[in-house]
Amino acid sequence: MGAPEAFTATAEIGHFINGRITGSTSGRRQAVYNPATGAIARELVLASVEEVNAAVAAAKAAFPAWADTPPIRRARVMNNFLALVNKNKDKLAAMITAEHGKVFTDAQGEVMRGIDIIEFACGIPQLLKGDFTDQVSTGIDNWTLRQPLGVVAGVTPFNFPVMVPCWMFPVALACGNTFILKPSERDPSPSIFMAQLLKEAGLPDGVFNVVQGDKVAVDALLTHVDVKALSFVGSTPIAQYIYETGAHHGKRVQALGGAKNHMVVMPDADIDQTVDALIGAAYGSAGERCMAISVAVLVGDVGDKIVGKVAERAKALKIKNGMELDAEMGPIVTKQALERIEGYIDIGVKEGAKLVVDGRGHKVAGHEGGFFTGGSLLDHVTPEMRVYKEEIFGPVLACVRVPDFATAVKLVNEHEFGNGVACYTRDGNVAREFARRIQVGMVGINVPIPVPMAWHGFGGWKRSLFGDMHAYGEEGVRFYTKQKSVMQRWPESTAKGAEFVMPTAK
Ligand code: NAD
Repeated sequence: MGAPEAFTATAEIGHFINGRITGSTSGRRQAVYNPATGAIARELVLASVEEVNAAVAAAKAAFPAWADTPPIRRARVMNNFLALVNKNKDKLAAMITAEHGKVFTDAQGEVMRGIDIIEFACGIPQLLKGDFTDQVSTGIDNWTLRQPLGVVAGVTPFNFPVMVPCWMFPVALACGNTFILKPSERDPSPSIFMAQLLKEAGLPDGVFNVVQGDKVAVDALLTHVDVKALSFVGSTPIAQYIYETGAHHGKRVQALGGAKNHMVVMPDADIDQTVDALIGAAYGSAGERCMAISVAVLVGDVGDKIVGKVAERAKALKIKNGMELDAEMGPIVTKQALERIEGYIDIGVKEGAKLVVDGRGHKVAGHEGGFFTGGSLLDHVTPEMRVYKEEIFGPVLACVRVPDFATAVKLVNEHEFGNGVACYTRDGNVAREFARRIQVGMVGINVPIPVPMAWHGFGGWKRSLFGDMHAYGEEGVRFYTKQKSVMQRWPESTAKGAEFVMPTAK
């Protein structure tokens, strides 16, 4: 592959309301950085309540016609969008790298996982098929159908600015809803580009809108009477707040939160494969993935075989501007996040963990202002330490040593988060028991980052998800539709008189 073209647009980033880009009336703005250089790259407008209200009004006005559009025609718009995203996937990936910092090849993977969901949404006519029972009683049929909710909203995190919105809007739109996206303030450019591609694909104005902003915009959506459902992905404290506030205002809410994903390594695991998996899963995307492995649970004597090899590889990571094709790890998204991550390493050392690899203060030649840190490795971490309990969300791997499988399972099950987990073993029975007993929503057996495919749905357990429904897949279709049951009789013209008893099958 030749060198990818960098995303360098310097324009102000506005909202996308009723089919066009709008500037700000609030006057509130925020800088968007290129994390590889540390320079301000562009400016983002932050929505006022009035701007959010305008987006909701546009979405509400567009809803009746879109909801009435036959599912197959909605699917055709999704098909056009799919083609446009495929055509522009490297442009989207470059936007991600420019504002998030992750390496370009990883950003390409993110776009691909978003494409998976768009493809899934193209099959919506089949997914919206209802159930039908002929003759539930003599001359009476009963069927169920699923209808869209109305205006729905999505609030998304910085770490997947294309994929996570794609967990939401393709399914929501295909189901016949109209949508308002509130992307992260850190990397907002792909949101506007995707809105433009949807318009080019034939989506009517007002069906998909973007409001840029912060808590003001989110609260306006959460409390707006015309927003019927809200999907959220982000950190656990905000997820809980979104769930509680949305429910208080009568909305359907799915709120996916933070994580602390463990990889249990059994003594019989293939050591080289496990080391490869740990390096990619702990340090890929600088650990800024909700499915990153942040804890290695080393069972029995396997710790002595693994830690030295992981340390060697962590020290050798190629940390560079993510647009360089051989980069393995890019910068951290912001200076504040970098300081938080490096602060956790101080905490771990004070708590008594052994700092095997210290990535703090990493400098990249030619990018001295960039928000870089190296990969760090802490060993002999124990369950009461903050570096074990709290989500660091950076390239820091904590190793916990345990004597046996049962202790490993208990450790994972007692953690407050339950997003993803992996088990490395060559024993089928251990693998099976692990998958059955573990209290985590997404499990990998010799798979380090088990992000489910588009038709299986994504969601953690415990404090990693508030709400009943997982994102995308059939759960996504259920979330974005409500079920209606219709019971129908066409009586013969001879009247039978009123019935006063509970109807039963006759
Ligand atoms: P964040 O919680 O800071 O922000 C997420 C969204 O919430 C953003 O759009 C932001 O503008 C908004 N927000 C922030 N503070 C708010 C407030 N006080 N009130 C209302 N809205 C607010 O998360 P982040 O730093 O962007 O993303 C990283 C987090 O997301 C990590 O915790 C990570 O584990 C989590 N995450 C989870 C999943 C998952 O599927 N469970 C996926 C990706 C990321």
